[in-house]
Amino acid sequence: MHILIVEDEQRLARLIKRVLTEERHVADAAYDGAEGLQLALTGSFDLIILDLMLPEYDGLEICRRMRAQRIETPVLMLTARGAVEDRVTGLRAGADDYLVKPFAMAELLARVEALLRRGRALTEMTQLKVGDLALDLTRHEARRGERVIELTAKEFALLEYLMRHPGQALTRTQILDHVWRYDADAISNVVDIYIHYLRDKIDRGFQHPLIKTIRGVGYRIAA
Ligand code: CA
Repeated sequence: MHILIVEDEQRLARLIKRVLTEERHVADAAYDGAEGLQLALTGSFDLIILDLMLPEYDGLEICRRMRAQRIETPVLMLTARGAVEDRVTGLRAGADDYLVKPFAMAELLARVEALLRRGRALTEMTQLKVGDLALDLTRHEARRGERVIELTAKEFALLEYLMRHPGQALTRTQILDHVWRYDADAISNVVDIYIHYLRDKIDRGFQHPLIKTIRGVGYRIAA
């Protein structure tokens, strides 16, 4: 899992990074609020360990801005303060859990694993992913890297069908049956036409096309 640490105490940040790396996570560290915010807003992390007191933007501000942009990355807030109102404020700003400093690394790891499990359970239900392409089933939105892609209802249905079978060659008939089920007016090459539309939206301008043509068979999506 890819974890961001935003912590201005560089020794602590490095220690957390080392502990996470030993657990086979990939960890990046930001040492101030501005860099932390910028990285957090990419939405490309599985978890953010966020210190409350930071130069430039503090942890609360970063959390609020992320949630305002509907970036739902789980946040574990680190705080030197143990006062109830500070914890409540943190949770209201959108943090998922908090840890009061000083803490044992074993406890940090336990919280991290719990949040990652919760995050996985949630995203598996609502999001499909192939490489850097993500399809959000609740918001009806596709995103490749940081680019949000507008799709029509049929394009969405087609992409969802492909992404539910990553790496698998799907025939035109299978695609037609699943995506155009009740549409008697669907013309014979409608699948090819819509694959063309999709490629235009999700693959054009990217180095690695995700939609592959399987000659004589149909199509598949793979990273
Ligand atoms: Ca701090």
